[in-house]
Amino acid sequence: MSAVRTTCPYCGVGCGLRAARTADGSYEIRPDPDHPANLGRVCSKGAALGETLGLDGRLLYPEIRGERVQWDEALDAVAAGFARTVAAHGPDSVAFYVSGQLLTEDYYVANKLMKGFIGSANIDTNSRLCMASAVAGYKRAFGSDTVPNDYTDLEQAELIVLVGSNLAWCHPVLFQRVTAAKAANPKLRVVLIDPRRTQTAEIADLFLPIRPGTDVVLFNGLLNHLRREDALDLEFLDVHTEGFGAALRCAKDSAASIPAVSAVCGVKEDDVLEFYRWFERTPKTVTAFSQGVNQSTSGTDKVNAIVNVHLATGRIGRPGMGPFSLTGQPNAMGGREVGGLANQLAAHMDFAPDNVDRVARFWGAPRVATKAGLKAVDLFEAVESGAVKAVWIMSTNPVVSMPDAERVRRALHGCELVVVSDCVRDTDTTRCAHVLLPAAAWGEKSGTVTNSERRISRQRSFLPLPGEARPDWWIVTKVAQRMGFEAAFGYDSPAEIFREHARLSAFENGGARGFDIGAVAASSDAQYEVLEPFQWPRAAGVAESPRVFADGRFFTPSRKAQLVPTPPRAPAEQTSNKYPLVLNTGRVRDQWHTMTRTGKSPRLSGHHAEPFVQLHPLDAARFGLTFGDLTEVATAIGSIVVRLEITDSVTPGQAFVPMHWGSIFASNARVCALIASAVDPISGQPELKCAPARARRYEPKWYGFALSRAALDLPATSYRAVSRGAGYWRYELAGEDLPASWPEWADTMLGPRAARIELTDVAGGRYRGANVEGDALQACVFVATAKWLPSRNWLATLFSSRSLSDADRLAILAGRAPKGALESGPIVCSCFAVGRSTLLRAIRGDKLVSVEQIGRALKAGTNCGSCIPELKGLLAESAVTSAAPA
Ligand code: SF4
Repeated sequence: MSAVRTTCPYCGVGCGLRAARTADGSYEIRPDPDHPANLGRVCSKGAALGETLGLDGRLLYPEIRGERVQWDEALDAVAAGFARTVAAHGPDSVAFYVSGQLLTEDYYVANKLMKGFIGSANIDTNSRLCMASAVAGYKRAFGSDTVPNDYTDLEQAELIVLVGSNLAWCHPVLFQRVTAAKAANPKLRVVLIDPRRTQTAEIADLFLPIRPGTDVVLFNGLLNHLRREDALDLEFLDVHTEGFGAALRCAKDSAASIPAVSAVCGVKEDDVLEFYRWFERTPKTVTAFSQGVNQSTSGTDKVNAIVNVHLATGRIGRPGMGPFSLTGQPNAMGGREVGGLANQLAAHMDFAPDNVDRVARFWGAPRVATKAGLKAVDLFEAVESGAVKAVWIMSTNPVVSMPDAERVRRALHGCELVVVSDCVRDTDTTRCAHVLLPAAAWGEKSGTVTNSERRISRQRSFLPLPGEARPDWWIVTKVAQRMGFEAAFGYDSPAEIFREHARLSAFENGGARGFDIGAVAASSDAQYEVLEPFQWPRAAGVAESPRVFADGRFFTPSRKAQLVPTPPRAPAEQTSNKYPLVLNTGRVRDQWHTMTRTGKSPRLSGHHAEPFVQLHPLDAARFGLTFGDLTEVATAIGSIVVRLEITDSVTPGQAFVPMHWGSIFASNARVCALIASAVDPISGQPELKCAPARARRYEPKWYGFALSRAALDLPATSYRAVSRGAGYWRYELAGEDLPASWPEWADTMLGPRAARIELTDVAGGRYRGANVEGDALQACVFVATAKWLPSRNWLATLFSSRSLSDADRLAILAGRAPKGALESGPIVCSCFAVGRSTLLRAIRGDKLVSVEQIGRALKAGTNCGSCIPELKGLLAESAVTSAAPA
């Protein structure tokens, strides 16, 4: 079988991939050299997709209240439940909460059903948490949600300003493209603006460790500086924009001087000036931004403060320049196109009466929504209050990812009808569902996605549908038909839906709306099947997508872009004596969202096997914490327990916790349950990066871990973190209660003691037990009253050896690797499973000084390259250590 060309299901880079079946029946996933987004590159997550295709953990059959049912019964129940609720309480008593993981065709029919036929706009998407502020900012400035850049701009720029974007971990292939562009063009400089010194700092020529929430002041100061230095494009401002005077007055008031900016932003004056000078003198500047800008109660103003400086210098609509929003999800953009946000109607039309009329005629819809619906936070508050009585959640896990996540869980538990369609059986959200609908997973579904640069690509299936899983578009369509809307939802294929979506984009458009893909509206099924990636707009009769805004015309009524005054506002909550830290949330390199798929991959799980908090050494000392402590991180609304990492990548006064871990992989690590649901007043995007918090040691009575070939049924423990290794499961444990007998406690998970070797050290508070069948290690558990326990990495290697030696058995009981056994440490290079300790030994022992030398010695960094920033960090760390006086 030849390779199937498809796209990655993770981040907004939207890499093209090729899936090819191998001789053993598994699939090899390789980067597509012909896809314009990645040109043959891939990151660690994309490279590990083959490890996530198994059916373990999949939802394969419809269920009602935990009982398997036939599809007809499930669809009838959903349709009847929604119809009954609408009839009794009106259309706004129901809601859909959807996802940037859906394909455009899925999104289109869900939006059409809710907004056109149920008659409510209560459909919102998890993209609200990711880039709603970028949408709102673009619409205020350009009159349309149009990202004005493509990836080649990053290569043509001479200055790239990265704001609130850890490109190295969150958009790794773009990081690779920028790294290559810097190597090819020594004139290209990178400025990183971020409260954290992330791995992206590896390519930064200037790093501004900005105080959280002060971006608007920094960019207002830049606008003011550009005016002072006479660096404005007055002709562009005069001919193509409006609002400069008001925006400048606001900038002067809020950021009068560089010392004033420095004081507010916490960045050295010289560095502020250097950034301003570089921007002033570099016409080819791209400002790329992501969640660090968007996830804020002033996110929309931050976006407009960035857009303002590009409009003021005319740096838009030409190669190598522009304000570039990098989306988090693979199809956040597709959702924006169809109207998947509650404040959009469809195809980039809002709820203006002429748009409602146009869409109603196009859809032949009886009751098109006439006003915006509930945005994500409001939507779940309405579920809690009972105003929304039936909710359908598609392909997303809000009980982990929404702010005030515990409140979302409570709201769902109190809701009359909760429907969840997902490909995964057990998530925090499926546990709240009355009806579960098995959706197709990546590799099984076909449709289109749009990446951050407005490029529409085909995602193609290469696997059969397992069990009774069905594509999301099919599920929505069948429910719509049962609700009485057969004629409008008679689709047989995603191609049919795509054609309708494309026709709507062009319907009575005439250049009035930015989103127009009329050129593909008449694609045959065969043409859709081989559709090549293309960027919108692509109006009918147009062969090449034009560069947007090249003519200086925008989509506002005057056709002029708008500069918007952006008065700075502090974050919604401030630190205090009780909560002295600013809690920032984000992502790690090798996990995606709530780990439902990446958590299945052993090589991805090796990078960070446990949820963690990062604190600066000064803060760790201030709170009496040491590396590896279990640490309680608390805010006014909740607390979690995670492992402590001490690093100067966070500045003093800040804490960083990743957003990935939910109840499936850890007992208590949902960081979003610590975040109050304050939102940006315009975009409705929650402030997920700025919560006052405290940290203190969590002191259980015992610590432990277990490794096992088979998944274990664990006894109740106060702390638990689960991860996958190559051929084994890993459980990190801790407890507040000391059992009467450790061997009996171990029996509850390891089973009968017949095949066990064990050691109980009552005085030392230690227990070690291992089940050995034949000569093979099956499972082991280690417990101690202190946190230091034997090396998991050494023990993990025993699961790949065919038989245990006597030395191995003794070493297990001694809790020490046999002499000569080498510890590999946490995984740094996922592709070749090379650990931190292995790397440090090689760097120091073999005197390696470059990433290339590491690659030659250990292969690390030679495949996807996602670990290269960390390899550079280890080289730097070793250089500092070896230079230090003895
Ligand atoms: S950068 Fe990585 S996660 Fe993002 S689309 Fe490409 S392969 Fe997927």
